[in-house]
Amino acid sequence: MYPMKSIRHLALLVLAAVATATAFAAKPIPGPKGGKIVTTDSPHVEFLVAPDHTVVVSFYDKDLKPVAPGGQIVTAVAEAKTGKANLSFNAKDGSLVSTTPLPEGDGYRIVLQVRDNAGAKPKNYRVEFHDEVCGECKHAEYACVCDEAGGKHDH
Ligand SMILES: [Zn+2]
Repeated sequence: MYPMKSIRHLALLVLAAVATATAFAAKPIPGPKGGKIVTTDSPHVEFLVAPDHTVVVSFYDKDLKPVAPGGQIVTAVAEAKTGKANLSFNAKDGSLVSTTPLPEGDGYRIVLQVRDNAGAKPKNYRVEFHDEVCGECKHAEYACVCDEAGGKHDH
């Protein structure tokens, strides 16, 4: 016979495992602007490549209502075949927009680094940049929301 205390402890462990599994199975959140939501928890961060190939980073609360950038520091490194390119960002129209466009082509990785403020620890988000549009969800492939895990899509 187990003491009651350890049974309760075991039950909590099982609950925690179920919660983790549920979080992993969650569908990608569609970006309100058609980009990729890189975060799993709010405040959410959307990564969007504009038609002119600049990167637009937008912030949202838990209900995906837009939040104006307030002191976040965002940088990105595009690991293009032609070489790495560092992007810096300026506030524009309620988002942060890269001051230079992405390198030519696609099929490369972009590492987005977000600091909530100058003193905060940086959070890195990796995006596999594919520019073609997904036939199912009509998002660009890098922002496709059809796939559970994201990034393992091939059309
Ligand atoms: Zn899709």
